[in-house]
Amino acid sequence: MDHTETVRTPASWVVVGLDNGGTANNATVLDATGRYLVDHLVENPSRVQDGPEAAVGALAEAFANVLTLTSTPRTLVRAVGLDTPGPASADGKISSKGSTNFSQPAWHGFDIRGALEKRLGLPVIYNNDANAAALYAHHRYFGVDAMRRSSVAAIVGTGLGGGVVESGKVVKGAAGMAGELGHVQIPLYGVLEDGQPVPQCNCGFEGDVESIASLTGIKKNLLGYWLTRFPGHPLTSEPVDKAAKLLRAYGEREDPLALAVFGQQARAIGKLFTIAANFTDPDAYLLGGGVVEADPRFREWFLTTVRDHTELRREQAAVATFAVVADLDMAGARGAAVAALETLPGS
Ligand SMILES: [Zn+2]
Repeated sequence: MDHTETVRTPASWVVVGLDNGGTANNATVLDATGRYLVDHLVENPSRVQDGPEAAVGALAEAFANVLTLTSTPRTLVRAVGLDTPGPASADGKISSKGSTNFSQPAWHGFDIRGALEKRLGLPVIYNNDANAAALYAHHRYFGVDAMRRSSVAAIVGTGLGGGVVESGKVVKGAAGMAGELGHVQIPLYGVLEDGQPVPQCNCGFEGDVESIASLTGIKKNLLGYWLTRFPGHPLTSEPVDKAAKLLRAYGEREDPLALAVFGQQARAIGKLFTIAANFTDPDAYLLGGGVVEADPRFREWFLTTVRDHTELRREQAAVATFAVVADLDMAGARGAAVAALETLPGS
């Protein structure tokens, strides 16, 4: 702590967090003391399909809206945190190949961070959405101890997102591609059944974490196999997209097919965390996403299965914790704001 810095008070200054998604932006305001001024989603259309100019305009609108909503004068804003879906460089240049959300050619290689900074006339700090969510999960879990702790977060959604946090800061890597946990290949022994086809990921790898522990992995790889093992299961008659989404409700009712699928996902995450234990040896292994927002019993079973398949040394097991982090719908905007706050003196 720099004691020459003026003491931070709630009224001294703020940062704004902007989470850019495929259909909507979500905005938040974080004051100098680390308090969020909104406790719900504050959304506007993201217009990413209309190209960079429209989308940067929509982000500027999200910025203005959240300041109005919280009665925050613009002069109090010191920095803006921005997150978008990847892949993008560490400083916010969208991949030269584009991506699902940024498919128009005008997006390829577009510097969204720089464009927003120019538009707002304020420093903009960029993270990809998975890293922003991991940063928020870390700070939410550790609170005042966040800057002295490390964590690895796996967030199960359409893909497998997450990130690596060291001393309260997200590890970005040289090209901005650190913490791509979904694409870490894992040993499949103890995860797959004998004769089960090796899962394929959209990234081109086989047997990485996302090919198993994601909604896409269920649809593409796991469900088809498990339906052959449970002939006559009611999900056999549903289209695969719908069946994959219904699966969690079956899991909550302890349906054997659903437990087999989610058990494989939990074991895959355990294998990932075993790699993390030997890489960064974090204080906490955090889990988020749809699968852990299920009913408490199912959530506990999933977390326990992950823990049982994470092989820690005795010394590690004595100090490490496993936890579920909920309320991650605001995580992108909040994590982006935390990243912006961390760049300012005194943090
Ligand atoms: Zn992959």
